[in-house]
Amino acid sequence: MTAHTAHSVGLQEYLKRGEALRAAADAEHARMRRMKFDTIAVHGAYGLEAALANQGSLNEPLYLSPAQTFESSDHLEAALAYLMPAWTYSRYANPTVGYLEETLALLESYGFDGEATACATGSGMAAIFLATDPFLVSTQGAVGTSGSDRRANIVASARLYGGTFMLFQQRYGAERGVEVRWVHDPLDLGEWSSRIDENTRFVYGEMPSNPSLAVFDIAGLAEIAHGFGLPLIVDSTVATPALMRPLLHGADIVVHSVSKNIATSGLAIAGALIARHVIPSKVGPDELRQDFARYIKQLPYRDYGPSLSPFNALMVLNDLRTLRLRMEAQSRSAMQVARFLAQHPKVEGVWYPGLEDGAGYEVSRRYLWLADGCDDYNEPVNRYGALLSFTVRGGMPAARQVFDRLQLIWRAADLGRIKSLATIPAISTHQQQGAAGRLLAGVPEHLIRLSVGGEATADLIADLDQALSDRGL
Ligand SMILES: *Cc1c(COP(=O)(O)O)cnc(C)c1O
Repeated sequence: MTAHTAHSVGLQEYLKRGEALRAAADAEHARMRRMKFDTIAVHGAYGLEAALANQGSLNEPLYLSPAQTFESSDHLEAALAYLMPAWTYSRYANPTVGYLEETLALLESYGFDGEATACATGSGMAAIFLATDPFLVSTQGAVGTSGSDRRANIVASARLYGGTFMLFQQRYGAERGVEVRWVHDPLDLGEWSSRIDENTRFVYGEMPSNPSLAVFDIAGLAEIAHGFGLPLIVDSTVATPALMRPLLHGADIVVHSVSKNIATSGLAIAGALIARHVIPSKVGPDELRQDFARYIKQLPYRDYGPSLSPFNALMVLNDLRTLRLRMEAQSRSAMQVARFLAQHPKVEGVWYPGLEDGAGYEVSRRYLWLADGCDDYNEPVNRYGALLSFTVRGGMPAARQVFDRLQLIWRAADLGRIKSLATIPAISTHQQQGAAGRLLAGVPEHLIRLSVGGEATADLIADLDQALSDRGL
């Protein structure tokens, strides 16, 4: 007989194999945790042994297969019950996506003395949904209380990406009846404290925020949240782990739109949540508190189906390898662009975390550091990211005119690209939330958001200079 004959070696044997596979993965994880940031970004979870087992391929293999085949019923049973590492079906897990998840967990916990797990998703919004929805089960009152007057609430910075604002305000607030308590000034820890009570389920902030570049004291806010037994969730899409790792400062869950600076070439939409082990929560099972990302991956993610395509995971891995080098170069360029705009007579205001006269400068300086510092001197250096915003004198007509004149910098409702992009949030990313919502989120109508790419700084400044020139303004 040439065909493989199904035979079972027994469930116990698969459990033993599972233990050996886990031990090998743990040893590889421990080895990579001792490496520097760039080494982790370049090699991730794909070590020499994995490569040799994949016909020596230099790159992580792309497993497009929707499912895995099994030796026997015992093997199938052990895999499906999570008794041994397996991927089973690409909606639950996939090896290519797994390489990305492990790399993101390593990078986001770089320098952190605890452990973290990552769950990659089909978009940033899917990650934000999965990171917050599990805390809103049984919204009819806090644990140990009763009565509909004890509505569950969430406390979030009002300085948020438009999609997150809509998820909280419309989906959770208007449709589910969750009370959304906005914090107007995220720098004011007193305001955060005053909004949290025994019915709060989580505390949420974005740093630096899109598009107003607002910041907050992560460590101070984590202490407040933990004092109430609550998790702190931070969206650090704009910073990326190359510039800031919120887990080091006490945050419990980090969410990313991986679609942005991480996948800078613009070949994939993707998201991720990365959580430290053992987080506080007043609701949900113990598994949620023990290893949040693993719990998400094994249960809600499997049921809701927001999985990331393995093809997109490979596109992301390809860009991720150069993350720190790009964030270093683009931050330096963005700082020069911000300084150019700040001194331009046509410019009314500039928002960039690295500008000394900005409201959040002291906090930005404390949190935004290039991982591993400057190579030449091995010295820590502040780097403030690739995103900035500005307003021009003359309101919306002038803003549209400057925006329409841009030639090298492209107009797009997007950011984080290796190509510089600009948008007017009020008519694009933050249009849905309306004028009142934009006022709350600190987004003036005539704000222009600029995402600095990898072009030569002089060419970007020349483009802005001609767009701001006197012609008709
Ligand atoms: C783009 C973005 C999101 C949403 O991510 P998608 O990948 O587009 O779903 C969330 N947060 C921030 C800060 C973003 O810029």
